[in-house]
Amino acid sequence: MRRPIIHSWLLLCVALCAASASVPAPAQLKTRNVVLIVSDGLRWQEVFTGADRSLLDDPKGGMWESAASLKKRFWDDDPAARRRLLMPFMWDVIAKQGQLFGNQEVGSIAQVTNGVAYSYPGYNEMLTGHPDPRIDRTDIDGNNYGPNPNVTVFEWLNGRPGLKGRSAVFGSWTWFTDVFNESRSHLDLRVGSRLPPTDKPTPRRALLERLYRTTTGQEEGEVPDSFVQARLLDYLKTNHPRALFVGYGETDDWGHAGRYDLILEAVHHLDLFVHELWVTMQSMPEYRDKTTFIITTDHGRGSGLVDWKEHGIEEKGSENIWIATIGPDTPPLGERHGPPAVAQAQIAATVAALLGQDYRSAVPLAAAPLPVLSGN
Ligand SMILES: [Zn+2]
Repeated sequence: MRRPIIHSWLLLCVALCAASASVPAPAQLKTRNVVLIVSDGLRWQEVFTGADRSLLDDPKGGMWESAASLKKRFWDDDPAARRRLLMPFMWDVIAKQGQLFGNQEVGSIAQVTNGVAYSYPGYNEMLTGHPDPRIDRTDIDGNNYGPNPNVTVFEWLNGRPGLKGRSAVFGSWTWFTDVFNESRSHLDLRVGSRLPPTDKPTPRRALLERLYRTTTGQEEGEVPDSFVQARLLDYLKTNHPRALFVGYGETDDWGHAGRYDLILEAVHHLDLFVHELWVTMQSMPEYRDKTTFIITTDHGRGSGLVDWKEHGIEEKGSENIWIATIGPDTPPLGERHGPPAVAQAQIAATVAALLGQDYRSAVPLAAAPLPVLSGN
């Protein structure tokens, strides 16, 4: 693992600026908890137009499941019906009660600004509010940058009055330990195939340990999204984080594997996981009617019969993403038609603003919050 060059001026600025940051009165906001959910490498095309006919019909879709059976589940000639077949919670609930950015077919642009469109730079951009040329490189294996020299909004929030120790990070990808700089941030990270020791062994725990130990991951140290979800739902029974990050990885993994049928399956599961999380949290007094979800992706992918598998500067269009929000402070404008372009970098300040915190006072490089709160 490559060691990063720590730019101390940036850390110093973060520390000094944080000390003098003014805290906006959160009284006007109903939100008390924020959940940032990321589905790795899920294209805007699938979110807004559902399954891609050309990939269902052509062997280049790499499908093992028959096209006929996939079409039965995920195809309709009407794009509005088709996308709902793939992501029912997104289109039945979020599109009615929240907002969605990124459908280029209706003039909505959402993009990464890091210039490389792969995972670590994307997570860094959304979590710190700005791209970083030290990380946004193509001359090294980009995801192997090492511990993030930048302070993520979750690390920053975790030190704020009233929010101390109230952040948590769940994810299938083991390298979130670097993205969130675990050794510096001391965030509660439950990522990859690590299971922390417990002093209360139960049959459920023994089963989980066995599955973690014996399931073949797609990438070293990675677990299936369903494992992340099971742990997260258990965790919420006894822990009530106010800033929660959840990273699901299969939408990217199956893309690289060239399996369009399993991308569709993974997107459908992702939608189910978000639905499940929403219903679970709305049933809890700590979260009911005071929790906002932001759902997005770290990068897009290429298009056509070949480039859909990969992402990066070679695959044109990989910079295009999508962002959805739902919560008590998000006006129900649904799918946005022709709004101002938005950027991935705006997510960090949005997470903070929803909790009544001004992240930009601490990190001036960070982009302004997304226009999803009432009155902004
Ligand atoms: Zn990828």
